[in-house]
This record gives sequence, structure tokens and C-alpha cells, in this order.
Amino acid sequence: VKERGRNGFEFFHPSIEEKSLERILLENELRKAMEHEHFHIDYQPKYELLTGKLVGAEALVRWNHPELGRIPPNKFIPIAEETGLIVPIGEWILRRACEQNRAWQAEGYAPFRVSVNLSVRQFFQPDLVERVREILEDTGLEPQWLELEITESIFAETDNAVPILQSIRDLGVHISIDDFGTGYSSFSYVKHLPVDTIKIDASFIRDVHMNKESQAIVRAILTIAQTLHLNVIAEGVEREEQLAFLHAEGCREGQGYLFSKPIPRQEIETLLKAAE
Ligand code: C2E
Ligand code: CA
Ligand code: CA
Ligand code: CA
Repeated sequence: VKERGRNGFEFFHPSIEEKSLERILLENELRKAMEHEHFHIDYQPKYELLTGKLVGAEALVRWNHPELGRIPPNKFIPIAEETGLIVPIGEWILRRACEQNRAWQAEGYAPFRVSVNLSVRQFFQPDLVERVREILEDTGLEPQWLELEITESIFAETDNAVPILQSIRDLGVHISIDDFGTGYSSFSYVKHLPVDTIKIDASFIRDVHMNKESQAIVRAILTIAQTLHLNVIAEGVEREEQLAFLHAEGCREGQGYLFSKPIPRQEIETLLKAAE
């Protein structure tokens, strides 16, 4: 009896119970948020390190719940992935980001590229390429001004990833590998990939100004990028010392709190105006 009691306690451990309650709650709330369009997008600027020029922005979804307040993507994206809700939510984000970028161009701002994160689940929708094509057509955005950020995890799922990537790229859309270096086989597979940019994961940038191993990894990634003629961007740049290292090692672009946090549409417009 004692033992069963102990197992019972372990099974119904409060933290597990709470977690699943939170999950159920968030899942329901996600469905409602989808219906009522309670999401919006912030944009984080990307800069060319040499010139300080604004070269693009990453669209990052934001959920402001009427009662629960702001819920960070790290909390709800995984649930959206598991439930499949990421498909309609992701499509909304993609459409919204393309619409917005087209609107900026129509207002006369110098064109720049907006990147949208594509979840694994979205990536394997059979009609993905058609959806992307249709969204570009509907919004009137030229494909070159859209970039899709995908993670290495798609390559673990199937051998089909490469032809899908190729079809997206054939549309003229740019492809970036997000969180580069955190997967298993980065270095071996990247050679065969139809991609434009690799994004050095923030975990290597975090201590790159003081850690020899991170320095070696970042250098290796920069060398690969150069050899394969890929563009490269560092994410999570927070400090001048990190920037100095990246700059000295020939990293072209950067993104991070040192330059700017993700900001609302209006603040991007201020930056675009200032860049004119
Ligand atoms: P990610 O794609 O790697 O995005 C970068 C995350 O790092 C963002 O967090 C961004 O705000 C944060 N960040 C940027 N610069 C810095 C910095 O200098 N220091 C630190 N500490 N953090 C920085 P966010 O917006 O909370 O998003 C977290 C993750 O959620 C994203 O990681 C991405 O995986 C996912 N996500 C966010 N928006 C979307 C979306 O629209 N669609 C999909 N599928 N996933 C999204
Ligand atoms: Ca990203
Ligand atoms: Ca249509
Ligand atoms: Ca990332």
C-alpha cells in the first residue's frame, strides 16, 4: 500500500498536474485567440555589421491575452506545434508579415527582407509551397523580400526536406537555417542544402567574447559559410565585445538586444525613416 501510495504521489506530482492544467488552459485559449486574432507581430531588426545598415527584420509572434497578459512564444509555440494549431497560426503570421512588408514598400520605404519562422509542423504540410506562393500572390510581395527561417530539426524528420526547400527557393523566397550549430549533423548536411543564410545560434554568441570553444565554433561556422558562399548572421548579440569579435572574424550580419529588441511596426517605420 505504501509503495502504491508513493507511486501515486509520483504520478500525480503537483508540478506535473499543474503543467497539464496549464497546457489544457493554454490550448483552449490558443483556439480562442486564433478566432479573435489576439496575436500581433513584433519585428526585430537585422543589421549589416560593417555599415550598420538595416538589412531586414524577423517577424516574431506576440500573444497578449486579455486576462493572462503577455504569453511568451516559448510557452505557447510548443503547444501550438503539438496540437497542430501552429498551422493556422503560422499561416496567419506569414500572411500578416507579407502584407506588412508590402505595405511598407507601398508607403515608399526602401525595400527590405522580412523573415518569418516556419515550424516543423508547417514545413511538412503537403500544400506548404502552394500556400506560400498564394500568400505572395495575394499580398503582392515579391518573393525576394520574404525569408523563411527553418530549424535543423526538419532534416531529422525525413529525407524529403531538401526537395521541399528547393521548391520554396524556386519561388524566389530566401531560406535561412535558424539556431545553426545546435542540431546533430549541421556540418555534413549544409553542403547539399538549397539555403541562402545560416544563423549562428545565440548559445554560441552568448560567451563568444570570453570562451575559446565558442570562438572556435563560431569561426568554423563562418569558414563554412564563406566556403559555401552562404550569408551568415549572428543572433543574440548583446554586448560590444561580442560584436567586436564577430566583426573581426568577418561575420556579415547581426541581430540582438545590442542593436534592438523586437519592436512594434510603428517603431520599425521610425527606423526605416531614419535610414532614408
Ligand atoms: P528564435 O526564432 O530563435 O527567435 C529569437 C528569440 O530570441 C526571440 O525570442 C527574440 O526576442 C530573442 N532575442 C533576440 N535578440 C536577443 C538577445 O540579444 N538576447 C536574448 N536573450 N534574446 C534575444 P521570442 O520572440 O520570445 O521567441 C522565442 C522563440 O519562439 C523563437 O526563437 C521561435 O522559435 C519561436 N517563435 C517566435 N515567433 C514565432 C513565429 O512567429 N512562428 C514560429 N513558428 N515560432 C516563433
Ligand atoms: Ca528565428
Ligand atoms: Ca488567392
Ligand atoms: Ca534562433
